Amino acid sequence: MPCKNCLEKPIMKLLNNEQLCKQHFVKYFEKKVFNTIRNYKLINKNDKVGVAVSGGKDSLTLLYLLNKLKEKTRKFEIYAIAVDEGIEGYRDKTLENAKKFCNENNIKLNIFSYKDEFGDTLDNFLKNTKMKACSMCGPFRRYILNKKSKELGFTKLATGHNLDDESQSIMMNYIRANIEISARLGPITGVLKDQRFIKRIKPLYLMSEKEVAIYAFLKNLITEFNECPHSLDSYRGDIRDMLNNFEAKYPGTKNAVVTGFLNILPMLRENYKSNIPLKSCKNCGEPSSNEICQTCKIVEILKNKNK
Ligand code: SF4
Ligand code: ZN
Repeated sequence: MPCKNCLEKPIMKLLNNEQLCKQHFVKYFEKKVFNTIRNYKLINKNDKVGVAVSGGKDSLTLLYLLNKLKEKTRKFEIYAIAVDEGIEGYRDKTLENAKKFCNENNIKLNIFSYKDEFGDTLDNFLKNTKMKACSMCGPFRRYILNKKSKELGFTKLATGHNLDDESQSIMMNYIRANIEISARLGPITGVLKDQRFIKRIKPLYLMSEKEVAIYAFLKNLITEFNECPHSLDSYRGDIRDMLNNFEAKYPGTKNAVVTGFLNILPMLRENYKSNIPLKSCKNCGEPSSNEICQTCKIVEILKNKNK
């Protein structure tokens, strides 16, 4: 069967069984992302958007499309922000992609590293602890992105989370009974109205990982897949496998998880909106539900291990 819009050879079959050729897939993809930005009001006039880039397919697709939209509308600014965790053989490679892309497109790239912020690389921290890589890396990365985005004066932080990532987060929170944390998900954060948190937006929210990968390859944004060596050794990795198996057997599962979630999200936000302000970490000043934030606690444990 040819592409539904022309007679060209199809490269992608959508969930509704429609087939699209290269050119019409690119059109479909861009339209859906720009509609997500418009429908969920992700970007406003004069926004100074920081784009979190790792140099992988999701973040480069995001940066490419936001840059395209910026050039077209001239209504907002974009900047790139990257975190170098210090994962040899992985992050060094993807950061090269990010640097090259930003250079070629005249986008200012700000890079912050665990070594500068916390004293060492993730690789070295992991040598002295039994803590799982992602349990340490997740809070560290969120901490740097939140703190530095504020320092750089961004009004929003855009991340490359796609439909697969979001369906995993929803299921993880559900299985662990962390429903309150799910209230913070969605295409734009909104439950916590606290100036100390940078507003996060996810323009690729409704695009599947496969669609993003195909788009990134078609646009030559990446030439090979790079995956963090720790990504499979995690709870999320197991949830990802489970959802992939379900998707293979029951196509549309991930889409259903996310769209169903979007229906209940307003109720979750209403239920979990809190008037009790968060404390500020006594050590670093970042918002925290305890006296000392999770990042400072982990740094302290790591320091003591090295004594
Ligand atoms: Fe960090 Fe885990 Fe992501 Fe690797 S998979 S970059 S260790 S959070
Ligand atoms: Zn702290």
